[in-house]
Amino acid sequence: MTNDRMPKDRVNDYSKAIIDERLEFLRKQSGSALEHIGNYTVDPEESKGNIENIIGFSQVPIGIIGPLLINGEYASGEYYVPLSTIEGAVVMSYNRGAKLITASGGAKTRVYRDGIQRAPVFILKDMDAAKAFTEFLTRNFAVLKSEAESTTSTGKLKDIQIFPLGKAVYVRLEYYTGDAMGMNMITKATMQLVSWILRNFPVEEYFLESNMAVDKKPSYMNFICGRGKSVTAEIVITKKNVERFLGTTPDKIFRMYRYGHIGCSMSGVIGGNLQYANALAAIFLACGQDLGNISESSTGANLVDLTPEGDLYFSVTLPSLIVATVGGGTSLPTQKNCLDIIGCYGTGKVMKFAEIVAASVLAGELSLCGAVCHEDWTASHEKYGRNRI
Ligand code: NAP
Repeated sequence: MTNDRMPKDRVNDYSKAIIDERLEFLRKQSGSALEHIGNYTVDPEESKGNIENIIGFSQVPIGIIGPLLINGEYASGEYYVPLSTIEGAVVMSYNRGAKLITASGGAKTRVYRDGIQRAPVFILKDMDAAKAFTEFLTRNFAVLKSEAESTTSTGKLKDIQIFPLGKAVYVRLEYYTGDAMGMNMITKATMQLVSWILRNFPVEEYFLESNMAVDKKPSYMNFICGRGKSVTAEIVITKKNVERFLGTTPDKIFRMYRYGHIGCSMSGVIGGNLQYANALAAIFLACGQDLGNISESSTGANLVDLTPEGDLYFSVTLPSLIVATVGGGTSLPTQKNCLDIIGCYGTGKVMKFAEIVAASVLAGELSLCGAVCHEDWTASHEKYGRNRI
């Protein structure tokens, strides 16, 4: 360790000179040449607003799956989906699921709800004041809406849910945010709305967020009420294709699903799925989504059934999928490239992106069901998921 200090007070400097200076400090500190972190092809200036104190770019491999056939309202046709991961066998597994879906006529996808929340809490003098406050909020919805929407050309306040608790009132504000995930947009809008409240009602104290939003945490609230895009994908797969692609039967997958759901209940899992987080982490990383939101996005449940003909019905439902095709990390260079691969960069694309994510999640669930039922799980990880050490 040296006594040198990290260069200070220039957290928003993206020049090559400051990056070299920071790296030099870290080389001395760590005794490592750090020869890869500072080697990149993109312009660091492009990451302004996404990172501070920049020292370089991490290079995570990107694989591709497909063709994945989707019959959605917004996504229609065959897609090749980029997955960025360091877990061997993940891309193989999703690719097998994609091929099965395509051979079975495609996944049907639907977005059935859209809205993201900010949830301030207000502390009043006592519970009578809290009751009067809830009435005040309901009465003034139109004003609150117009105050919030004065800060954004895209955001719309859709709904207010009010939860009184003693002298406190928790307020869950739900917004439409277009193609952006919207948390910066609605934080600004909510601050404007709160300022109007403070001028018009005697509030003792408030906090802009009460944790009821519920941002970046798994919760029953998000699972039941939804957050971001609520999206579902379903498919019916013939007995023949289940045997051909997964080496098992619809019956066995159905029994596995029943025992798996009991396992989820016993362990307190919210929802019930096998590996939604794997698809989400890999697509989020490739396509410039906020990785912190994998937490609530992966809270979803499978529904598995047998048709009267003995074929397999399988659906995935993600009630709180947080995705964007505008803003956040979506215009970072490699991330934009990946969104371009699926035709999902920019305005008017977020619903299509949500459907592609759901269909990819379905591919992974089907493939892993096959691996667990057919017992080729360990073998495939041995073959693809082991590194040179
Ligand atoms: P943003 O990059 O801060 O802003 C996106 C802006 O793009 C919108 O405000 C909107 O401006 C404009 N826009 C242009 N075309 C649009 C379109 N078609 N649809 C929607 N907006 C359009 O993005 P954000 O989604 O508000 O925030 C995302 C970032 O917030 C992520 O980086 C995430 O990591 C971070 N985040 C913040 C918090 C927080 O508490 N602040 C929490 C979690 C995550 P107008 O509003 O003028 O229309």
